Amino acid sequence: MSKTHLRAIEKADPTNIKKHQEDLMCKMLAYVQNHSPYYARLFKKHRIDIKKIKKLEDLKHIPVTTKEDLQAYNKDFFCVPTENIIDYVTTSGTLGEPVTFILTENDLQRLAYNEYLSFLCTGGTSADIYQLMTTIDRRFMAGLAYFLGARKLQAGIIRVGNGIPELQWDSIKRVKPTNIIVVPSFILKIIDYAKKYQIDYKSTHIKKAICIGEPLRKADFSLNLLGQKITEAWPIKLFSTYASTEMATAFTECHQGRGGHQQPELIITEFLDNNNRAVLPEELGELTITTLGVEGMPLLRFKTGDMCHHHTEKCLCGRNTMRLGPIAGRKKQMIKFKGTTLYPPAFYDILNNLENIDNYVVEVFTNSIGTDELIVYIDTKKAEKQFEKNIKDIFRAKLRVTPDIIFRNEREIKIMQDADNGRKPRYFIDRRNATQKKTDFEI
Ligand SMILES: [Zn+2]
Repeated sequence: MSKTHLRAIEKADPTNIKKHQEDLMCKMLAYVQNHSPYYARLFKKHRIDIKKIKKLEDLKHIPVTTKEDLQAYNKDFFCVPTENIIDYVTTSGTLGEPVTFILTENDLQRLAYNEYLSFLCTGGTSADIYQLMTTIDRRFMAGLAYFLGARKLQAGIIRVGNGIPELQWDSIKRVKPTNIIVVPSFILKIIDYAKKYQIDYKSTHIKKAICIGEPLRKADFSLNLLGQKITEAWPIKLFSTYASTEMATAFTECHQGRGGHQQPELIITEFLDNNNRAVLPEELGELTITTLGVEGMPLLRFKTGDMCHHHTEKCLCGRNTMRLGPIAGRKKQMIKFKGTTLYPPAFYDILNNLENIDNYVVEVFTNSIGTDELIVYIDTKKAEKQFEKNIKDIFRAKLRVTPDIIFRNEREIKIMQDADNGRKPRYFIDRRNATQKKTDFEI
């Protein structure tokens, strides 16, 4: 994409970008003061005079909002009466009860604009056809956002939804999409399906994959194992995108693939440490966001729980906007193992890409001297000493540490994964807060 296609705000000087965000922030603060029962109460309790919050740096005077706050006071975050609400979505409820989010007509327009900007960032045009391989219903926001964004771009869109490789290939052959919107590990599944049924998957019209839900890159922006495996099998261009319901905003890579670009008119970002202070630019920080222009359920200083680096130097694409590095992991899942700080996705990237591993669970617990200990339970048909050694060698080479490896059969692993009756299988079990230390696995 040539630089002439960039919007003024993307090319603006960082001071002007900041000034623009501050204008929008002041409007947002006045809006929540008048419409959000939760924030009106918060301002009163902490004697916050929003007229004194004029700069992005002043935001630190407002207490952060956590996922627990959203759960405890869900409806107090609603800023509009029921008759103004159009769409209801929920977050996955990793902490128990799901949280309901509401969208007004303006919020749907904003969501469309947000995803339209994401598509532009990947070089999309009205000539493109997008095949949507994620779900558009089930109370999720992402699929709807993609549909609305593609519509605003006046591009074509095929709403296949997730799963069903047969239907995916049938649509690819029939409609000839140029892009797929997909959870990246699913690309490997459709490649496997194509190989099995002799589909010539390399000669389609698909040039790009807009990837959501799983990281594709390492902190230095090189492709992780998942990204490498996909592009080795199928040389299409991968674009990583990071978004969430709470943010109602996406951070999408440009063709340089050096982090997801922020859309400054839609969201303010902060990167905080454990004490809610800003981290240094080179440090990992918890992404904390303030939404701009949201009408139904705006959030101030919401702590996402996601740890990442951020990059402020100008991108080679010409944009001056901040870029978000790959998500290293969830803050609560941080593991301190033998002097190294790790997050579960680093394990998943290795385990997902090893041959002969059918399923797995990573477990962390506190050992007798009070530090983190790790076990990786693996379901494999090659449950033998040499294979265990190979796996440990790979962990040592990639992560510089070696967890204990224990082989379990398919049923045992499934029981561990389903123990919480959650919506998704668990690949990570955290026993650090449990009174029980490491317990022997029970069937
Ligand atoms: Zn860029």
